[in-house]
Amino acid sequence: MKEQTKLVRVGRAKPQGPTAVNPPVVRTSTVLHADLKAMGEVRRRRDAGEQLFSYGARGTPTAFALEDALCALEQGDRALVYPSGLCAIGAMFLAFTEPGSHVAIADNVYPPVRRLAETYFKPRGVSCTYFDPDVESLQVALQKNTSLVLLESPGSGTFEVLDLPAIAKLTSANGTLLAVDNTWSAGVYLKPLLLGADISIQAATKYICGYSDVMAGAIVTRDEAYKPLFDVSSNFGFCLSPDDCYAALRGVRSLHARLDRHQQSALQIVEWLDQRDDVDVVYHPALSNHHGHDFWARDFKGSSGLFSFALKQGKDDETERFIGALELFGIGSSWGGYESLALPVAPAALRTASVWSGPEKLIRLHIGLENVEDLTLDLERGFSTICH
Ligand SMILES: *Cc1c(COP(=O)(O)O)cnc(C)c1O
Repeated sequence: MKEQTKLVRVGRAKPQGPTAVNPPVVRTSTVLHADLKAMGEVRRRRDAGEQLFSYGARGTPTAFALEDALCALEQGDRALVYPSGLCAIGAMFLAFTEPGSHVAIADNVYPPVRRLAETYFKPRGVSCTYFDPDVESLQVALQKNTSLVLLESPGSGTFEVLDLPAIAKLTSANGTLLAVDNTWSAGVYLKPLLLGADISIQAATKYICGYSDVMAGAIVTRDEAYKPLFDVSSNFGFCLSPDDCYAALRGVRSLHARLDRHQQSALQIVEWLDQRDDVDVVYHPALSNHHGHDFWARDFKGSSGLFSFALKQGKDDETERFIGALELFGIGSSWGGYESLALPVAPAALRTASVWSGPEKLIRLHIGLENVEDLTLDLERGFSTICH
């Protein structure tokens, strides 16, 4: 079966008598057992790693259906779900670091990850090194006690693509876990676990849920890395509500179709922006001069709707004026929903490993499911504010 077919079928029961298409939302805290012996048996098997219904916070049948769908999507053994993408990243740090460990984080990651590392984990004895998003810089950053490497490919804001197989070789030789934030590709266009990563994380808030109405996080991993993550969820009570699991699973059903449309529309707009005289540079992995384009062409099956660009002048308040003139592009954080968004990005302030030498201000666009000509006309409104 091809992936699109799998994602339509996964997590659904075989009809036995009249059966609803979708798995139901199972809301519960308590799970009842026939007797104490049966209850003890379920708990024992659950703690040994089986996906078993034992308590609301340890996963409901609705969460299990979503976990199975996420495993099918990312081609992993086990999935865990969290109340947000950032919570998933935090849980991973809790599972794989301790006082005295070291983590290496790509310098272009989602900025709140850096805040979490600096303000929570550093004071608790976990040292952090940020590395330029390339193999050579990671090689320098790796230490004997590096327990975890976290990267995002392509990175938030500037979209550099990394050489994942080469990085996986380095980390595995060092006994270090490699985690990839795979939110940009939605798991549709990149399978980090097949390229040697140990952990793939997604802000399911974005494309998986797809309608800007749910917060959710997901981790997909191999059997080996599952138990420490499960233990963290048990210890802290991390879980995702059954209603949100249901919404995320519904998003998985249409993920390929939506991503295909985000991809096509974004590529049309990228091409249109790239040939304009008033645009300085477009940051999109499909462009042949983009940082890591060859790795993208080799490892990814496509591209999503998020990229950035810089105006040729981009000085004073032109970037802000451009964004302010847009009527179809909303102004707001997050992305991955059906609607288009625009935000200013200032990469220099977000980096510490090296000095950002590109344009000072970028405009990050999320291309939604609107008609692409309407979006282009809207962007013309932005350009008209800076034409003199
Ligand atoms: C949004 C985002 C997150 C965090 O997800 P939340 O669900 O908002 O906590 C993590 N990584 C990337 C790349 C993101 O874009």
